[in-house]
Amino acid sequence: MQPARILIIEDNPLNMELAEDLLVDEGFEVLPAADAITGIEIARSERPDLILMDLQLPGIDGLQATQMLKADERTRTIPIVALTAHAMNHHDDQAKRAGCCDFISKPIDTDRFPDQVRRILKAAANEAIGELTPSEVA
Ligand code: MN
Repeated sequence: MQPARILIIEDNPLNMELAEDLLVDEGFEVLPAADAITGIEIARSERPDLILMDLQLPGIDGLQATQMLKADERTRTIPIVALTAHAMNHHDDQAKRAGCCDFISKPIDTDRFPDQVRRILKAAANEAIGELTPSEVA
């Protein structure tokens, strides 16, 4: 099986490095983007299995970027997980409304992070199967 490909859209280089290292160590393929425009381009061209979206980004923020990805036929089915700062709990609701399927609190818990990502990937895959018609599953 191909390793899952995960697009991380995160402007803080240290947060990016940590998340990328943890996921690469677990065998995931990581596509990094430091801003929303770059991330959206990569999402369209690479069709990753999952997007981890920092909400606080320069220029287009993570909520706007999520809405753009969900409005685009090419990227609307890719699950998006919000990376939200602990102190900003009100962002969790906003993230759901924008189209995020889940969220992971920052700073990320290095012990739990890989399992959180695996669990979300699995849930998203199950949901995608549920959306298929019987002939597509067969
Ligand atoms: Mn940020």
